[in-house]
Amino acid sequence: MPQHHEMVDDLIEFFRDYYSEEIAQLAQHYPQEQKSLYVDFDDIYRFDPDLADDVRDHPYELQGYFEEALRLYDLPISVSLDNVHVRIYNLPESDEYDVGEVSRHENINRLLDIRGQVQKVSDAKPRIVEAEWECQRCESVMQIEQNGETLQEPHECKGCERQGPFRLLTDRSTWIDHQYA
Ligand SMILES: [Zn+2]
Repeated sequence: MPQHHEMVDDLIEFFRDYYSEEIAQLAQHYPQEQKSLYVDFDDIYRFDPDLADDVRDHPYELQGYFEEALRLYDLPISVSLDNVHVRIYNLPESDEYDVGEVSRHENINRLLDIRGQVQKVSDAKPRIVEAEWECQRCESVMQIEQNGETLQEPHECKGCERQGPFRLLTDRSTWIDHQYA
């Protein structure tokens, strides 16, 4: 692996190139609504395949470097991201890094975003009646009927039979507008 400071410099560049919008958003919502930045392994690979190899081989160590880079990143607004977490998801499946939590949080954030946008327009609360989930490991797509307040994920992937992580395909899911009484 490269020297520590070179690595951190590289990661700052990676953030600038690939995650400036996400970081700006995080800075606005930190720490109450959002405490983590979610980084897609594919983006790391596109930025630098060697770096992606390091991440695959030493995910926890590299997570520390990513967090350090984020602390040194020039933010558009003045806020300190000292306790922010960087979560790397979409890692190749040979790895034992736990990403289950990541996809759930990500899905919830997306749902909240969509709810916020729709509420402004129609004052209605959208609900998913049938969710389409995509397995992050093998890209199988599964439909899960929804009938409670909590979003139901597949128990296991029908393709690779692993327990995700799954990504909610918001565009392909079936929504209804749930009018307030
Ligand atoms: Zn699968």
